Amino acid sequence: METTNVKAYGAESATTPLKQLTIARREVLPTDVEIDILFCGVCHSDLHTAKNDWGFTQYNAVPGHEIVGRVTSVGSQVTKFKVGDLAAVGCLVDSCRTCASCKDELEQYCLTGFTGTYGGADKHLGGHTFGGYSEKIVVTEHFVLKVPENLDPAAVAPLLCAGITTWSPLKHWNVGPGSKVGVVGLGGLGHMAIKLAKGLGAEVTLFSRTPGKTDDAKALGADNVVISTDEAQMKAVSGYFDVIIDTVPYVHDVNPYVATLAISGTVVLVGYLGPLDPMLQTVPMIMGRKSVAASLIGGIAETQQMLDFCGEHNIVSEIEVINMQDINEAYERMLKSDVRYRFVIDMASLKA
Ligand code: NAP
Ligand code: ZN
Repeated sequence: METTNVKAYGAESATTPLKQLTIARREVLPTDVEIDILFCGVCHSDLHTAKNDWGFTQYNAVPGHEIVGRVTSVGSQVTKFKVGDLAAVGCLVDSCRTCASCKDELEQYCLTGFTGTYGGADKHLGGHTFGGYSEKIVVTEHFVLKVPENLDPAAVAPLLCAGITTWSPLKHWNVGPGSKVGVVGLGGLGHMAIKLAKGLGAEVTLFSRTPGKTDDAKALGADNVVISTDEAQMKAVSGYFDVIIDTVPYVHDVNPYVATLAISGTVVLVGYLGPLDPMLQTVPMIMGRKSVAASLIGGIAETQQMLDFCGEHNIVSEIEVINMQDINEAYERMLKSDVRYRFVIDMASLKA
């Protein structure tokens, strides 16, 4: 298959900084859309991948799954997009499209395994897929999203992962007017969870370790802020929440959040991948029919619904625009929870 070389930024190993690389993009197939990438958000998953935190990174790794750009070419069978359209790509670029999950528009739970935007098995070129820290991407039309015209395209980029990852559980657990929602951690996912839960009409409380984020949380729409390290503040919200979206990226004690659930409430883990330590205590769960659940991004149709909702409600991410060359410093700041609240790479800096 014919390919084009494009500039990208990626990691050659877990211990070396990201640097400029060259990667191949496939020729545009009949069902493909080629996108000139304008902006790419920086997700904590990018950092986990670059550093091999999850143990399955394949190098060279080119992260980036919050992609917004301009369509530069479409295949002969493409119907949804034309050259010049603004388009977006999130965490998925392919799936089997035939299994029960895919038929149910839950491509993220494809029973044969979805193709991740980066680090997935590339069905066309072999090897693994490369993400949005690059000049261009070629994606099959089904996995390309339409971007509402009224929103700032740079601030839309984080909706493609941080947005949908928090939207999907909010919708699945029926959050709406009257719901009491807790959000743990005010980073990329957390700030979108606050905005989207508020947009859905819920009352929202942020749990944070960082007292300095209180004013920001309220400006983002949070009704209350609980400092999670303060026992008295935690006790004050005991038995209160219907749904808690926990975005913390590293191992932490989930039991204190279970204590803040109302009867039949659910803590949804979306951040940390791995065994819980300390372990979950089942007694408080049994005594209150409480659940600890988890959730992965969202399907393509659901992602489009979220984008359209954001267009209608003028919801975007709070961003700090960076150059591609600043990515290693951005990762350092992300490790210190010093992101307000999503870095977005201006991809013109890579093309210059
Ligand atoms: P982020 O911007 O770095 O935000 C994480 C926040 O969690 C921080 O701002 C901090 O908030 C809190 N935090 C960080 N370290 C902590 C620790 N050791 N203990 C307690 N709290 C801590 O990260 P993100 O991009 O939102 O991503 C969050 C996690 O979700 C990552 O692990 C990422 O891989 C994962 N993720 C999952 C999915 C999915 O589909 N399930 C999708 C995307 C990302 P405070 O300062 O307020 O405490
Ligand atoms: Zn992500």
